[in-house]
Amino acid sequence: MTPKPATVIPRVRSRPVPARWQGEVEHVLFSDRQIARRVRELATEIEAEFQDRELVIVSLLNGTVMFLADLIRHLSLPLRLDFMGVSSYGAGTESGELVYTKELRLDVRGRDVLLVDDILDTGRTLHKVLAKLRALKPRRIKTCVLLDKVARRVEKVQADFVGFPIPDHFVVGYGLDYAERYRNLPFVGVLHPRMYQTGADAAVIAGRPAKKPGTRKSA
Ligand code: 5GP
Ligand code: MG
Repeated sequence: MTPKPATVIPRVRSRPVPARWQGEVEHVLFSDRQIARRVRELATEIEAEFQDRELVIVSLLNGTVMFLADLIRHLSLPLRLDFMGVSSYGAGTESGELVYTKELRLDVRGRDVLLVDDILDTGRTLHKVLAKLRALKPRRIKTCVLLDKVARRVEKVQADFVGFPIPDHFVVGYGLDYAERYRNLPFVGVLHPRMYQTGADAAVIAGRPAKKPGTRKSA
């Protein structure tokens, strides 16, 4: 048996953090141009996989907003779009009770489904959502994520289409949030640890919660 090659996390030359975000974002992981290029490639890979079959895209709210909008404009196969709202609550990253804030409305029975999420971390979210979707008897399900924190996996789940494998940093931007902020950044950046290491008082003064990322993850 040939051993599985280790996932290579590409080292990209970091672009400077735009002045407006310099206090909050430690460094840029992927610039808007790098993301745009990779998203176009992903669309090509997805089209090749599904040929011309009609697709139901199920996208997880809220983190996929930018990624999804960019991805689907490059897909020229017939598709229908629906969303599931998923939030994970619990103490620390280890507990992951999923709460559905929006249920699927389209019927996926017998359909080709592409499940889209922003980032694959422990894998708990995709694992549970996949089980829920499989129970609806689609013809097949493929998964697509923009980012994959390979080293953090707890559940045995892999995405079929991955934008970028990344190291274990808490990232924001391009749809990804910290306490609902930073979704509007056009790039993906590593959040400065001071943003979640400040004491409660400092955080209140700054108008930000002192929660460590992962204590409540809005999907
Ligand atoms: P999992 O269930 O795989 O542990 O976590 C998946 C969800 O956690 C993602 O959909 C995302 O909402 C959130 N998440 C995990 N890692 C990060 C991160 O580095 N940054 C942000 N903003 N969200 C993350
Ligand atoms: Mg998410």
